Amino acid sequence: MHKLRRVKGSPEDYLIRIVDGKSGERGERLTGMLPDVKARYAVLEGAYTTTRIGSVAEGRWTAQQRKDLLHCYGSTAQALEDLKRLITEGQSEGTRDFCPYCGIGAPRQFDHYLPKEKYPEFSVHAYNLVPCCGICNGKKSDGWLNAKNARVFLNLYIDSLPTAPMLEPDINWVRRKDKRVPTVSFELVQPTGFSAIKFDLIKSHFEKLELLSRYKDQSHTEFSVLRDAAIAREAKTVATLREFLENFLVQRERTLGLLNWRIALYRALVKDVSFLRECLKP
Ligand SMILES: [Zn+2]
Repeated sequence: MHKLRRVKGSPEDYLIRIVDGKSGERGERLTGMLPDVKARYAVLEGAYTTTRIGSVAEGRWTAQQRKDLLHCYGSTAQALEDLKRLITEGQSEGTRDFCPYCGIGAPRQFDHYLPKEKYPEFSVHAYNLVPCCGICNGKKSDGWLNAKNARVFLNLYIDSLPTAPMLEPDINWVRRKDKRVPTVSFELVQPTGFSAIKFDLIKSHFEKLELLSRYKDQSHTEFSVLRDAAIAREAKTVATLREFLENFLVQRERTLGLLNWRIALYRALVKDVSFLRECLKP
């Protein structure tokens, strides 16, 4: 999980480029709708804060208008591809290859934070496009508010994240053939001093995207990555190996951020003396 950077330039300019690329009757209809869509852009951008974004009301569009607005995102167009590329490439180098919602998979799709079925006018709004993995996109679907109209997913362009780790892995070792392998479960823990209200949103985000069980499912692969790196070091003592892995961890933490689930797992393994002993040179 990591914060996103907003694309440079005005969302309205990207919209105009996309609409300019449309021809025929659809192009004319979209050009005619531009003043209304721009007015809606102003509403969204005026409310683009953690406390106000959930209150943006749905717009009123005819069935044809809805279709035309959704077409802006649903059809292949150079201007839209350019916008998607700018959003992806604008993210920090270390995290751009990971979905910001989960930190597991590659962000090969775009989620519409305000669902495009409810807000077709924001289907190509640059701030409404979240690069994410297919699993998160599928789980998020068009739900974004609960019955009390409170948001249930983090908006990583604007929501605050803790500055201290919030994932605690619990490692249990089991023996399989001649190897000890860990079974890992993760717990989400509110960091000291972090607002309870903001943490409720994080909890909801984790529950809706089933992040704790997804991390558990992925943990064995990550365990193997760290174990292979540790064995390749050919260290003779626990102290040397720990020093090496702590440096490795610092580097990975700089790249992935300290809230990343892999970092939480690595941190727990580096503390585990029995794990370190097994990775020593015989
Ligand atoms: Zn994801």
